[in-house]
Amino acid sequence: QRVGYAIVGLGHLTLGEILPAFGQSKHAKPVALVSGDPDKMAKAAKQYGIKPSNCYSYQNYDKLKDNPEVQVIYIVLPNSMHHEFTIRGAKAGKHILCEKPMATSVKECEEMIAACQKANVKLMIAYRIQYEPLNRLAMKSVRDKQYGKVKLLNMVNTQNQAHDQQWRHKKALAGGGALPDIGLYCLNTSRFLLGEEPEEVFAYTYSTPGDDRFKEIEENVSFTLRFPSGVISQCLSGYGSFNAKSYAVHAETGTIKMDPAFSYKGLKQERVHAPDGKQQTEQPSNPDKQQFALEIDHMAECVRQNKQPYTPGEEGLQDQRIMEAIYKSAKEGKPVKLTAGVGKLDAF
Ligand code: NAD
Repeated sequence: QRVGYAIVGLGHLTLGEILPAFGQSKHAKPVALVSGDPDKMAKAAKQYGIKPSNCYSYQNYDKLKDNPEVQVIYIVLPNSMHHEFTIRGAKAGKHILCEKPMATSVKECEEMIAACQKANVKLMIAYRIQYEPLNRLAMKSVRDKQYGKVKLLNMVNTQNQAHDQQWRHKKALAGGGALPDIGLYCLNTSRFLLGEEPEEVFAYTYSTPGDDRFKEIEENVSFTLRFPSGVISQCLSGYGSFNAKSYAVHAETGTIKMDPAFSYKGLKQERVHAPDGKQQTEQPSNPDKQQFALEIDHMAECVRQNKQPYTPGEEGLQDQRIMEAIYKSAKEGKPVKLTAGVGKLDAF
């Protein structure tokens, strides 16, 4: 029996990636939808074989508690709505898979974790990169010191944002600009690869004057994370420049490059090292697994086996704490120290 999911919010990500990904899932199926647009919902329900009686509005969402077919609620709404829908979903007794960024403040993240603990349900944040095989291979090489100690990371995630991305340009709905939306990949992947928590950040932000997209939120953010092992991660993210989604891990005897690293498909990895003094380049093959299917299946297995998800609420909370420190550093023009955060689990 597959684990039943209710998907909340029928925007680009749900319709373009998440609902199609269930076709490649081994352990889960979509059984309910929640939307503010009944026509769009009826169409999607028909396409994915979801019963009309399992279609809910944002108002009667809480009625999911009476639906035993639904075990997990996947929240795919604008960032500021994650908090409310997680708490209501937990009160309905359902496990929660919540899109990134977890919320728009540390306080909200803490309340979401507390609500899920109180209701005795699981909370997972949808960090798909941590379930994607090529990124996991890079993580394993880093942690096994395949090329000696890692010294430096550099990460880039940019896109030239369309002018119609309404909620993403509103501070109240998005929580910020490039940082919480795409810069978060640089932050979360640095922590994931290294398996340690940064102890200091230093950042700049910038927005082009007069650009209507960036009246409320930052266009660009550059931040440096300093880790206890001495590794420095240099991260760049922006909403006003052409797509670039890559990173490089610089270790003592080799470099691991991912380009693209953060896209939905077609990821590529290249390793440059010189085992016999002669430089070699290797490209591990990409199994090109559907990342959303892997992530959805991980949550389904955690529910079945009563296990803690690999990317629990605490993971989203830790990123939110660091993002707040990044904004503080940019505002004050000086480095900000961080206190110890969650430790990473070793494997799933
Ligand atoms: P979107 O704008 O395409 O969809 C948002 C949905 O929320 C729409 O169906 C919209 O109708 C609904 N909505 C409800 N109340 C709203 C309101 N007050 N204002 C605006 N929309 C409202 O957004 P999206 O790209 O699908 O993003 C949804 C979430 O998924 C965000 O948290 C985003 O960060 C996350 N996301 C994650 C990834 C990933 O790779 N993991 C990729 C894209 C988006």
